[in-house]
Amino acid sequence: MRITCPHCGARDAQEFSYLGDANPKRPDGLDATEAAMHDYVYQRDNPAGRHRELWYHGAGCHAWLVVTRDTRSHAIEAVEVASTVRSGAAA
Ligand SMILES: [Zn+2]
Repeated sequence: MRITCPHCGARDAQEFSYLGDANPKRPDGLDATEAAMHDYVYQRDNPAGRHRELWYHGAGCHAWLVVTRDTRSHAIEAVEVASTVRSGAAA
């Protein structure tokens, strides 16, 4: 699989580290219930199909990226710099 980094161009996926689902939004630590924090930390969807994921380009520009990928075919629909993406936004 190749990921097209917005800064570095198309690179092998081995240059990147996968963090996980890009959709969960961290609850406010002062007001969140224990159940809400538990869900944020441990509960993840495992979709078959379109999925927004966080990847880190550790062997390149060290940018965090949001990659929209089909988990069945590994086809990548979009790659965005994470700092420019609204947190928790569903694309
Ligand atoms: Zn890069």
